[in-house]
Amino acid sequence: MIDFKCNSCGEDLDAPESMAGQWIKCPLCHKDQKVRTVEPKIQETKDCPFCGEEVLSTAKKCKHCNEFFDGSNNASAPTVVSAPVVVSAPPMQQTVVFERKTMGCCSIIFIIIVLILICTFG
Ligand SMILES: [Zn+2]
Ligand SMILES: [Zn+2]
Repeated sequence: MIDFKCNSCGEDLDAPESMAGQWIKCPLCHKDQKVRTVEPKIQETKDCPFCGEEVLSTAKKCKHCNEFFDGSNNASAPTVVSAPVVVSAPPMQQTVVFERKTMGCCSIIFIIIVLILICTFG
C-alpha cells in the first residue's frame, strides 16, 4: 500500500500500489488526489537456502520458512544423537542369578520328588 496525505484536508490516505500515479477521490473531502508514485526499493536479496524463496540479503531469518540462516534454529536442527544406551552388566547378571535360582528351585523340587518316590517305592 502507498501511504500519502490528502493535499486538501491532510487526511492520511493509502492506496494499492497499482494505483500509483493515478487519481483517487479523498473519502473525506472528496477532492481528487494523485496517488504518489513509489520509487522501487532497491534491496539486495538472496535466495533462502532452505526453501528457495527470495529474502533480503540482510535477513537473519527466512520469512517464508522461518529458518535461521546462521543455523541457530533449534527446532529444525538435528538433535544431537546421544550414544546408544548400553545395557549395563548388572541387569544381565541379575537375570543369570534369577535363572540360576529358578534352576536351583527346580533341582530342589526334582530332588524332593525323587526322594518322595524313593520313600514311597523304596
Ligand atoms: Zn481530503
Ligand atoms: Zn526459506
